[in-house]
Amino acid sequence: EIDGGERGVHAFLHVNTDEALAVAAEVDAIRAAGGAEAEALHPLAGVPIAIKDLIVTKGQPTTAASKMLEGWMSPYDATVISKIRAAKLPMLGKTNLDEFAMGSSTEHSAYGPTRNPWDLDRIPGGSGGGSAAAVASFEAPLALGTDTGGSIRQPGAVTGTVGVKPTYGGVSRYGAIAMASSLDQIGPVARTVLDSAYLHELIGGHDPADSTSLNEQVPALIAAAEQGATGDMTGVRVGVIKELQGEGYEAGVQARFDESLEALRAAGAEIVEVSCPNFKYALAAYYLIMPSEVSSNLAKFDGVRFGTRVLPEEGPLTIERVMGATRAAGFGEEVKRRIILGTYALSAGYYDAYYGSAQKVRTLIQRDFDAAFALADVLISPTSPNVAFELGSKIDDPLSMYLNDVATIPANMAGIPGITVPGGLSEGLPVGIQFLAPAREDARLYRVGAALE
Ligand code: GLN
Repeated sequence: EIDGGERGVHAFLHVNTDEALAVAAEVDAIRAAGGAEAEALHPLAGVPIAIKDLIVTKGQPTTAASKMLEGWMSPYDATVISKIRAAKLPMLGKTNLDEFAMGSSTEHSAYGPTRNPWDLDRIPGGSGGGSAAAVASFEAPLALGTDTGGSIRQPGAVTGTVGVKPTYGGVSRYGAIAMASSLDQIGPVARTVLDSAYLHELIGGHDPADSTSLNEQVPALIAAAEQGATGDMTGVRVGVIKELQGEGYEAGVQARFDESLEALRAAGAEIVEVSCPNFKYALAAYYLIMPSEVSSNLAKFDGVRFGTRVLPEEGPLTIERVMGATRAAGFGEEVKRRIILGTYALSAGYYDAYYGSAQKVRTLIQRDFDAAFALADVLISPTSPNVAFELGSKIDDPLSMYLNDVATIPANMAGIPGITVPGGLSEGLPVGIQFLAPAREDARLYRVGAALE
C-alpha cells in the first residue's frame, strides 16, 4: 500500500521498505529464538513507525519537504532516531510536511500536498500532515512529529489521531532541522493515548547533545495512561480556558467540546473556568518570534554547505550571487515570506519594537498559565477552531491559515506540554480536544487524555 500510491493520501515522501523489512525480520527471529534476548526486547520492538521528514536519518533522504534539500542525506541520526533503532522499531519512511514545517495544511510541501484520509478533498492539517495521515489511514501505527506552534496537535485533531507536544526540553531536539529553536519539540503521533505514552517514554529523556534538554528522567507516562483508562477522574480539576472557545470556533467543534466537558464531569472531574487575558496577543507575538528565529536558522542553507546549489545564469560566480540564486530557487513562497518577516523584525531600529515586545508578551502568556494552573490541574480547549478545510481554500490567505493555530500556540510560547485526543465527529469529520499541563507534568495529559478517549 505505502509504495503503491497510498490510495491518494500521499503521506510519505520516501519509503524505506528494505530496511523496515530487515528490522522486522530481525525482531521475528529474536522472538522465535526466545531466551534472554527475546525477553530484553523493547515493548515496541517490531512496531512500525513513520518519521516526519524534518528529522534527520542516516541512510534515508531528509528533505524538510523543500527543494533546498532535494537528494540530501544526513551523515548522522537524530537522537530520537538512535533510540528508535536501538529499540528495533522498523522505520517505514519519511512523511510529508509543509516546507521546513511552516504551515497548517501540508499544502506548502515542495513535493505536493498530503490529503486527509477522512476526505481526500480536505487537508490533513500541518505542518505534520504526513505523519498524522499515515496514522489515520492505518499505514503506520506510530509516527514522529515536530511541534513549533501546533504541528503535531492540529494535524492530530483534524485526522482523529492522538498527538503530543512534550514539555520543552523533554525530548531531544538534536537532529530535528530547526525551525524556531525556542519553540520546537519532537513528539509522538499515535492512534491511542497508551500507544503515544510508550513512544514518548522511548524518545524522551536527557541528551547531552541538546543544550536545552532537561536533565531529568522521563515521567511515568504509561502508568498515567493506564490510570486514566479506568475512567475515574475524581479529584482532577479541569480548567476551561474562557478565551479559547466560543466566537471563532465552528459550531460543530464547540458542540463536541461541550460534550467532552460533560463526559469529564460525569467521570468525576471538577470543571472550573479560567481566564488567560493575554492569549489574544499570542498569535501576533508568535508570528514575530517564530520568523525571527526562522531567519537565523535558515541562513545556513547557502548553497555551499547543504543540498541544492544553483548557479546564476549569467554574470560572475561570486558567493553572494550563488547564494542568492540558490535561495531564490530552493525556498518556496511561505519560507521566503517568513525569512523576510524575521529579517525585518530583527533589523536595527526595529528589534525592540517587534522582537522585544513579542518576548514581553511571551512572559505575559507564561504568567496567564501560572495563574490558571493555580486553579486547575490541567486546562482544556478545542485543539483547532475548525475541522479539516478543503484543499486550496486558504492557500492564498496566509492570515486565515495562521488563525488555525490560535489554540495551540500558547503552549509553545510557554514551553508547556499539550495533547490532542479525538473528541468525536462534526459532519463526518474529526474534532480534537486539547489538554495542557504545567511544564514537566506531561503525565497529567496522559491520564486525562486516556480518560476522555
Ligand atoms: N502552523 C504553524 C506555523 O505555520 C505551526 C508550525 C509548526 O508547529 N511547525 O508556524
